[in-house]
Amino acid sequence: MSETIQPQPGIMEIALYVSGESTVAGRNDVLKLSSNENPYGPSEAAKAAFAAAAGNLHRYPSTDHAGLRQAIGAVHGLDPDRIICGVGSDEVLQFITQSYAGVGDEVITTEHGFSMYPILAHAVGARPVEVAEKERRIDVSAILAAVTERTKIVFIANPANPTGTMVPGGELRRLAAGLPGSVILVLDGAYAEFADGFDGGASLVDEFPNVVMTRTFSKIHGLGGLRIGWGYAQRAVIDVLNRVRQPFNLSQAQMAAAEAAVRDTAYTHWCATENARWRDWLRNALVQMGVGCDESHANFILARFASPAEAEACDAAFKAEGIIVRRVAGYKLPECLRITVGDEEASRRVVGVIARFKGVRE
Ligand SMILES: *Cc1c(COP(=O)(O)O)cnc(C)c1O
Repeated sequence: MSETIQPQPGIMEIALYVSGESTVAGRNDVLKLSSNENPYGPSEAAKAAFAAAAGNLHRYPSTDHAGLRQAIGAVHGLDPDRIICGVGSDEVLQFITQSYAGVGDEVITTEHGFSMYPILAHAVGARPVEVAEKERRIDVSAILAAVTERTKIVFIANPANPTGTMVPGGELRRLAAGLPGSVILVLDGAYAEFADGFDGGASLVDEFPNVVMTRTFSKIHGLGGLRIGWGYAQRAVIDVLNRVRQPFNLSQAQMAAAEAAVRDTAYTHWCATENARWRDWLRNALVQMGVGCDESHANFILARFASPAEAEACDAAFKAEGIIVRRVAGYKLPECLRITVGDEEASRRVVGVIARFKGVRE
């Protein structure tokens, strides 16, 4: 017998996702600024709801997520029937890819795009097509020019990770309007709450049947450890995605915590305000020290050094002080470090390290 088991096409082309490091050898006091987590943690109401769920662990959760979808709909002003919830927004992105792309199809991502997109494309045997960006900004014209009759999905994160830049409203609309109706535009809004006044693309979803918005509880809501995300699209798309979703994909505890978190709008607003304050303070400090830094609309900044070697040396300087930031060479940004915006103390420590590294006064 010469037959051997073989995985589906594309699977072996997947390069495993690399997550932010969380330890430094020999230290138990590390400051982790590598995964864009909320430095203040989740809302107290979310923690209480999670704890209360412990009394019900023998019960299966609801399959329709009605309570959570209603809460999201009420807070964001959206129709709950057009919302789908998943195990992180990663799972919603997976539903979309699995439902709409397959072997031989093309999935468009961008030069510095989130590394999950090519993984998801390969997982269904589709070919990720990478489109160049312009100075770390998504280039709408280049995306439109890259569309072929095989294109099924375009993935962009807005604000983008790891650059923190944003496609302006008019350009976003031009992208949605310019794509063929047969191509899904995924607007990954993982950082939407950090961008002042941005609806994540919800209004474009209302306007275009082929636009899907994804959101997460992992970033501003501080629930990355619990894995909850959601998507918003027109009814026909949600109906498709629900067919590939496992009925019990979310636990009772996940839904309870997420519902409490989204309803705690005062806390969400406070987190966004603190983030904006320290993000802009960090950027100013970096620029004054001669470190390049685009305006960020997310909860991290991208520090741009003169060379990959300098970025590597600064990363080592951070590690020596017990601070973990993210090297982003895998995102074609070898001269950069992505640094999550922490609280005041964390921000001052970050600037202190860079000042000593550059030999300048803070
Ligand atoms: C963090 C992040 C997500 C969120 O993933 P979850 O699965 O919801 O934790 C999605 N997209 C981008 C671009 C991200 O950076």
